[in-house]
Amino acid sequence: MNAPQQPRPPSVDQLLGSPGMDSLQELYGRAPVLASARAVLAELSEAYRQGELQPTALAESALLAAVTARLEAAQTPNIRRMFNLTGTVLHTNLGRALLPEEAIEAMALAARHPVNLEFDLDNGQRGDRDSLVENLICELTGAEAATVVNNNAAAVLLTLGALGAGKEAIISRGELIEIGGSFRIPDIMAQAGVMLHEIGTTNRTHLRDYENAINEQTGLILRVHPSNYSLQGFTASVKTRALSELGRAHKLPVMEDLGSGSLVDLSRYGLPREPLVQESLAEGTDVVTFSGDKLLGGPQAGVIVGRKDLIKRIKAHPLKRALRVDKVTLAALETVLRLYQDPDRLHTRLTSLRLLTRPEADIRAQAERLAPLLARQLGEQWQIEAVPALGMIGSGAQPVARLASAALCLRPVGPRKEHNRTLIALMTALRSLPIPVVGRLDDGALWLDLRQLDDETAFVEQLPALVVPGA
Ligand SMILES: *Cc1c(COP(=O)(O)O)cnc(C)c1O
Repeated sequence: MNAPQQPRPPSVDQLLGSPGMDSLQELYGRAPVLASARAVLAELSEAYRQGELQPTALAESALLAAVTARLEAAQTPNIRRMFNLTGTVLHTNLGRALLPEEAIEAMALAARHPVNLEFDLDNGQRGDRDSLVENLICELTGAEAATVVNNNAAAVLLTLGALGAGKEAIISRGELIEIGGSFRIPDIMAQAGVMLHEIGTTNRTHLRDYENAINEQTGLILRVHPSNYSLQGFTASVKTRALSELGRAHKLPVMEDLGSGSLVDLSRYGLPREPLVQESLAEGTDVVTFSGDKLLGGPQAGVIVGRKDLIKRIKAHPLKRALRVDKVTLAALETVLRLYQDPDRLHTRLTSLRLLTRPEADIRAQAERLAPLLARQLGEQWQIEAVPALGMIGSGAQPVARLASAALCLRPVGPRKEHNRTLIALMTALRSLPIPVVGRLDDGALWLDLRQLDDETAFVEQLPALVVPGA
């Protein structure tokens, strides 16, 4: 069934013996070259079976090029630097907070050298890794004690398991939230072995609802900050102070999952205000959990703060060991927390806060500089404008608040029925750049919100590589 004139692919040995392969082996190593050669031959054999093998594909130079291309592709790391021009600053899919340079240096130090992770330098005895950050966290939040785990989801799971396993947790129906990525409060409670006792209604929950729900099975009262959505209109929730008094009267711990939370009042930097960890504690909440890489601006981590006896129980729970953080995370977290000791300069030193507070006029000027460059590169097929835009904090913080920003708005000018296809081609081309670029599709145009474009030079340098096929 194969055309008689169709050439056969070489054997692996023949291919490896052909000119140029020796130097490839020197460069990349024997095993990778063998693997790439096998992969190339498998493709050629498949083409042969289909009767589609072209003789030119078997030229020595073509074979060498094919094996080299595979080796190069295999060398490209899977993790890639990107430009986040979506307008969402703390973008979960793009890695959330960008760390300040000092934190990156601390991470490198912890990665490069032995460190006192669980070693007490005063007495040479075994130490506790939490002690690297606990005092700082307590100083900044007013908490009696603190511990750190892998992320805030882990913090919630561990705290529920340690304080409420086998018992009921009372929670308002307005707080039974899903954060995304299958993190749903009822599911996490089930995983922690805590029975859900839901009270009130979606929009209104009163103190008497909590009071009436308390029984001999109750283990704790849980509050969850409604990240990612906003409840407006005819609503009622119970003040933290009243709830903690109720908890105290019944000897029940009150726990609050703050989600993002914040350690400084963001309104002093002109940003919308998120609930403060220290406020929740001051109003009597016994345990508060929050994320390290949301508004805090640090590494992925979950911080648990609160009453000493409760933190002690949480630390003693077997899950703590499974959810603990590594030295690199602790090194970054410590550095970021230290920046909070000087709130006056925080917005210039903490990268994520610097980006969140970047002045609109700055971004606007950048958009006006870049618009003509992009127009020149993309040609007649696109209308490109520097326009005002509205971004978001991201990671569930202040979901309805918008950050005034500026964007490059890229709109196809060809026939309307082609617009979708053209926009998709543009987005694909932007993702194929050496530093992939992502923007936001809205109103028939691609928006590149420049709030996060720190490295303008790198962006401009790769523009000549931007080619939109068919546009
Ligand atoms: C984000 C969030 C979580 C999960 O935190 P991670 O750090 O992503 O694990 C849990 N609860 C709330 C309310 C959140 O906003």
